[in-house]
Amino acid sequence: MKMPRISVLMYHQVGNFSGITAHGATFCRLSRFKSQMWWLKRMGYNVISLDHALQGIRGEVRLPKHSVVLTFDDGYVNFYEHAFPILKKYGFPATVYMVSGLIDKQAEWLEKSGLPLAPLMNKQQLNDIKLAGITIGAHTHSHPRLAELTSEQAFDEIVHSKRELEECLQDEVQHFCYPYGSLNKEVMRLAAEAGFETATSCQRGAWTSEHDLMAIPRKAISFGDDLAGVWWKIHMKHKLKGKLILR
Ligand SMILES: [Zn+2]
Repeated sequence: MKMPRISVLMYHQVGNFSGITAHGATFCRLSRFKSQMWWLKRMGYNVISLDHALQGIRGEVRLPKHSVVLTFDDGYVNFYEHAFPILKKYGFPATVYMVSGLIDKQAEWLEKSGLPLAPLMNKQQLNDIKLAGITIGAHTHSHPRLAELTSEQAFDEIVHSKRELEECLQDEVQHFCYPYGSLNKEVMRLAAEAGFETATSCQRGAWTSEHDLMAIPRKAISFGDDLAGVWWKIHMKHKLKGKLILR
């Protein structure tokens, strides 16, 4: 069987933004998002959940040549307002990585990058999307750069996010995502020790069975990506292997 190559697309905020020039990869204009989802449907891409993709990587199920997993970092209210209705319309599963200590609060770390604050989902919204089939993953307790913390602090951030979200959702949380893609061998070990099955990074590339499940690469979809840009990101090979984009 041919090794599956899965494109894990990474989104952050979806909406109508004015005056965004820096950090373009963390914003996706609503009109572009709509056309990207329309296009994935139209072209017959196999948009699957992270769990389904994991089964494919483990060889438990057969996946078509180009499968796509949609991920949304941080848990913004604009996911709930803008992206979620479109995903529902097309029947696309997705994963949202939530910062567990900031449920119903603001994404306060954005201020340090000079970006406007943005509200994060509340408990009700998280449970709503989960009920509709969206996977909720953890994204630490307070969104730090894990590789810059002591092992103890990093483990605390990781394990707390799992527990807090499990409490909020009354269900297991099995997937994790490193804020800013900040990771190293020790941080990967801690994510596995906390009991997560997978962890996604910001390293660019397609996900294959050759990757460590604690460092799954993704492809950022930016503010400026038109359909050709998305197509290129789904089909590009590993030319950028090893290059970390820290967003
Ligand atoms: Zn984040």
